Amino acid sequence: MATGFRGLPRLVYDESPDDLRCVACSICAMACPVDVIHIDTHRGPDKRLVLDRFDIEAGGCVFCGLCVEACPFEALTMMHGFELAVYSREQLFWTKEMLALKATEQSIADMERIHGPKEQPEKKEPAQTPG
Ligand code: SF4
Ligand code: SF4
Repeated sequence: MATGFRGLPRLVYDESPDDLRCVACSICAMACPVDVIHIDTHRGPDKRLVLDRFDIEAGGCVFCGLCVEACPFEALTMMHGFELAVYSREQLFWTKEMLALKATEQSIADMERIHGPKEQPEKKEPAQTPG
């Protein structure tokens, strides 16, 4: 697979698929130009958002990577697989369980490639002393 190939976006987890990095903020869904990310949430007892639903309509995704770029929590990357053909449109709905992907060196490198180079802190010029 060519370096930089962009397949379907996937939800990253570190230890367990039940503990996704995603915090259910919906920024990725707002960034998606074709509205194929569907998110439902509720407030947990600690008032934090809990992700009830995170689906991507794979049939409508244009693989632009804007959702990955927009996610402030490094919770999305893009997969390498390209064979998405199925027999019905319903099967093109990827649920959060199907989208869960373990963070690996490769998946993080793919994410970082989409995010682009990290901003370096500005170097301060030393103060000029008069005279
Ligand atoms: S932007 Fe990231 S953290 Fe927010 S809902 Fe999307 S995947 Fe989850
Ligand atoms: S890759 Fe683009 S089209 Fe596909 S879900 Fe992300 S923002 Fe939407």
